[in-house]
Amino acid sequence: MKVIPSELLIQQAIIILLFLSFLGIILLNCSSRSQETASIHPDDRRPWYQKPMRIAALQCNFEAGKTLDVIDKWVEMGFNVEQLFHPMADDYSALYDPAKHRELLESYLEKANRNNLKIILYLNVHILGPSLMEHKERWAQRDASGKILMLYDTYPAVCLHSPWRQHFFEALDSLAELDIHGIFLDGPVIQKTGCHCEFCQRKYLELYEKPLPPNGSHEFNRLTRDEYLKRAYAHWKKLKPESIFYMNLPITHCTPLAIDINSALTYNDILGTEGGFMFYGPPKKSFLWRPGFTAKLLEGTAPDKPRVIFMAGDQKPWSWYLHSPMETRLCIASCVSNAANVWWGIHGSTKLLTTESAQVAGDMFRFLKQNEAIYDTSRSMAKVALVYSYTSEHAYSASYEESDFTGKSTEKSVARGNLTEAMYGYYEMLLRSQIPFDVITDLKHAIDSFSSYDCIILPSTGCLPDDVADALRGFVMSGGHLIAGFDCTLYDSSGRMQDNFALSDVFGVNFDKEYVALANHNYFQSENDNWLFTGLDIPLYPAPLQAIRVRPYLNARVLARLLKPLPGRYVPLTAPDLPFIIHNNYGKGECLFIAGTLGEMYHHYNPIEYRKLLKNAIERFSEPVLQFDEHYGALEVVFRRQGERIIVHLINHNADMTRPIEHVLPLGNVSFTLDSPFHIGTVYCLSTGRQIPVRREQQRVSVTLRDLGVYETVVFEK
Ligand SMILES: [Zn+2]
Repeated sequence: MKVIPSELLIQQAIIILLFLSFLGIILLNCSSRSQETASIHPDDRRPWYQKPMRIAALQCNFEAGKTLDVIDKWVEMGFNVEQLFHPMADDYSALYDPAKHRELLESYLEKANRNNLKIILYLNVHILGPSLMEHKERWAQRDASGKILMLYDTYPAVCLHSPWRQHFFEALDSLAELDIHGIFLDGPVIQKTGCHCEFCQRKYLELYEKPLPPNGSHEFNRLTRDEYLKRAYAHWKKLKPESIFYMNLPITHCTPLAIDINSALTYNDILGTEGGFMFYGPPKKSFLWRPGFTAKLLEGTAPDKPRVIFMAGDQKPWSWYLHSPMETRLCIASCVSNAANVWWGIHGSTKLLTTESAQVAGDMFRFLKQNEAIYDTSRSMAKVALVYSYTSEHAYSASYEESDFTGKSTEKSVARGNLTEAMYGYYEMLLRSQIPFDVITDLKHAIDSFSSYDCIILPSTGCLPDDVADALRGFVMSGGHLIAGFDCTLYDSSGRMQDNFALSDVFGVNFDKEYVALANHNYFQSENDNWLFTGLDIPLYPAPLQAIRVRPYLNARVLARLLKPLPGRYVPLTAPDLPFIIHNNYGKGECLFIAGTLGEMYHHYNPIEYRKLLKNAIERFSEPVLQFDEHYGALEVVFRRQGERIIVHLINHNADMTRPIEHVLPLGNVSFTLDSPFHIGTVYCLSTGRQIPVRREQQRVSVTLRDLGVYETVVFEK
């Protein structure tokens, strides 16, 4: 027997041990999750609509009698709810008529129930379809000259004060006998100038004791809409209390459509909006982040209600032409990452389901079904919030993207800022900086959420309700940080200009009585070297196109000044003049006031340095709970939590420099660090189920994704 020296034995043992432990690491790192992700609701007694919904819709019927086959297609694609339209289709309208639809509908419902497909019945309450056209003389809306108002150029708009109303309530009564899980109202739509039919004129006279003005009345439109919807909700709930009632609620078009958002929250069991109906106009001009933005705004508006983004599978305004496969994937990913359910509907026949775009939609919905627990209720972990002010949308200045309900419409004020564009600008700066953030509102309930943020941003928010302004003052006083732009709080809640900003003490500036228009060859520059300009070393920065003259408080510090307006672009530079960025300590907190339309300017011109300035401000104002090692361009980051599970969604929009998007460019080595409130056990990618190696430093966990395609969800388990 050959004797092996003990030293050699030890060496061999060490090598074997090293090999085994290396193998262990490999196995550990490549191991898939052995079981399905656990739900955070083990004893789940929530109603079905509070659980994840994947809603399908076919908004017409060209199925040549094969109506019941549609169910199989939805089930195969991973849907669990249908918003049912097609068995009652009257071209592109639908309103249940028992004489015509009952038999077919009962068979459909029976098969849907067998397949665990919940049914919400669609009711069109904004147009008269072909079979109701005979009633148009009495049921349609009319303009002040008596002409019937049309929607989509083809169908008369329905009037809520006309006898159509009785027809609608009768339809509700007959629907109650059906085995359905809820109803959905598409509409109603009352446009700005309102309806001037005989019934509306009579109603107006009765309410206000004077004739209806030729330009209509916003107040009357709002009352008409609200009264009808409240009554419809109460009527339905009495008939079928366990089933849901909701509607198509255009939350970014409240003013032109006379929507009272507070009231709307009382008659919608789910909040749904058309965040995925795109693009209407040329795609290149469309706001890239619309689906995620509307999903965030829905959450800010109704954090405790289930939410849904309506996504037309088709590229609006075409009905038989689907979005590109990549646009489809990005839209769905962005909505679900931002905690909204997705309604995916097509406006052509199911032949469209064989296209690549529909296949991609199917892949996404099957993935969501497979990983339902991860897409169940979660809450945001963002420490930064962007305020969308419904008061400003109504009383200050906003512009509206085209939609099915409003058509083309832009309302702009020359002097004031533009809430919508400012929102979009700040939204994009945050998103492109990989800073997780929420959109909150100025509704009363939002006040309670302020304390969960380190930093709140007010983009060109001309008006705020007094209690919200006071709450923001208290937020800064007790250590919060505020970034405010342009003429924030210079108007009261009804839109009247005031002598000074309501939050002038927090901003550290007084309004100096003047708006200043600037041509696009003007500049601002930093005042000495200060923290805000860290990492930026150019002498001059493009000024936004509008500024506001302010007088800083004595203790406030000017961080940047505008150069005196230049008469042209090829002239000698002028001297620094008006204060442009002002930093103010207030109580235990701080405020950064920007005396110009920074958000609007970024939305149109994308000055790179604006984004860097905002990032510098946020790095000073907010704890970096989720930090990215580099700048990853158009990588959307959503940071959420379910109990002791943290979820980071990464949606890669780095793509062709045009739209519709055809390709996304993969990102290599995406690294980020999470500062977890608890010890992290395992980390894995949802797309592969594989664990990811982590680097740890106490509760800080760093991960690197070697290759990020379009969408990944990184899950951190305790
Ligand atoms: Zn009318």
